[in-house]
Amino acid sequence: MVEKVLVTGGAGYIGAHACKALARAGFLPVTFDNLATGWADAVKWGPLVRGDLMDRASVDAAIAEHCPVAVLHFAALSLVGESMQDPARYWRVNVGGALNLLEACAKAGVRNFVFSSTCATYGDQDGVLLTEETPQRPINAYGGSKLAIELMLRDFGAAHGINHVIFRYFNVAGADPEGEIGEQHHPETHLIPLMLDAVAGKRPALTVFGTDYPTPDGTCVRDYVHVTDLAQAHVLGLQGLLAGRGNGVFCLGTGRGFSVREVIEASRMVTNREVPVVIGDRRAGDAAALVCSTTRALTDLGWDPQHSTLRQMIGDAWAWAQKPGFTS
Ligand code: UDP
Repeated sequence: MVEKVLVTGGAGYIGAHACKALARAGFLPVTFDNLATGWADAVKWGPLVRGDLMDRASVDAAIAEHCPVAVLHFAALSLVGESMQDPARYWRVNVGGALNLLEACAKAGVRNFVFSSTCATYGDQDGVLLTEETPQRPINAYGGSKLAIELMLRDFGAAHGINHVIFRYFNVAGADPEGEIGEQHHPETHLIPLMLDAVAGKRPALTVFGTDYPTPDGTCVRDYVHVTDLAQAHVLGLQGLLAGRGNGVFCLGTGRGFSVREVIEASRMVTNREVPVVIGDRRAGDAAALVCSTTRALTDLGWDPQHSTLRQMIGDAWAWAQKPGFTS
C-alpha cells in the first residue's frame, strides 16, 4: 500500500514542490491547507484537506482519516517584514499551529516529523558561514517563532518519541523545471519574483532595500537554493526517518551568497532585459548576509542539488512568470 504523508501547507510554494517530489518517490502526499496563501490548483499529486492548524479538531480528523506515516510541516506565516509589524500574529499562528499539530501527532502516534525552519533563526552573524552548530539569535518575530518550534520539537521528541528532521532553509527560489507549479504570492514580497515582475513591466521598478550594508557592494547577501532541490532534500530526510536514522538538523542552501545587485545582474543575463531599479531604505529585520555550509546535508543526507545555479533559478522563475498561474 502507498504510504501517506500529511503535508501541511502543501498548497503553498514550497509545499507543492515537496508534494511533487514525494509522489515521484512513491508516497501519497495528503495536503492539509487553509488556502489562506496557498492555491487549490497547486495540489496535483494527492488529496486536499481544507483545514486550519489553529483548529485542533480538524487536525485530529485529518490524521485519523489518513493515518500518515509522517508529517511534513510547511504551513506558516513567513514574511520577515510583516512579522516585525505584527509579531503577535506570527507567534500565535506559527507557534500555536505547530503546537496543535505536534499534540495531535503525539496523541495519534505519528512518530515522524519533518519541519521547515529557516536561516532567519540565526539573526545577523557578521557574515560568518552558518552551520547547524552556529548559535541561533533571531532578530525578527518570524525567526523567533521558528526557533520556538525547533525547541518544541526537541521536547516532543524526548517526551513522545517523535523523530524529527529540521531543515533550515536559506532563500528558496525558482520554479518546477517542468513548469507544473511555481511561486505565486499575494502580495509578493520576494526578491526574484518582484524583480521579474519589474522586468516584465508588471510593476514600475524593483526597490533595492538598502545599499549601505557591510557587504562587498552594500546590498544584502543571501544564499539562494532551487525549490526542486529543496523539495528533494525533504524526501531524503523523510526516508532517513522511516529507515530509523534518527533526528537531524540540516541547513539547505548552496554555500555561495549573492548580493541583491548580483541577482539583478544575473537576471539581465538570463532574460536579456534590463531590471528597472530604485534604491530604497533598509527593510526592518533584514540581516546583512546569510550564507550556509552545505557539508552536513551533502554528506549525511546524500543531498545532490542539481538545479541551484542562479541562472537556472531565475530562468525557471522567468518561465513560470510567462504562464497564466494559479486561479484558485
Ligand atoms: N529585497 C530587495 N527588494 C525587494 C525584496 C527583497 O532588495 O523588493 C532584498 C531583501 O532586502 C533581502 C533579499 O532581497 O536582502 C531577499 O529578500 P526576500 O524577501 O526575497 O527573502 P528573505 O531574505 O527576506 O527571506
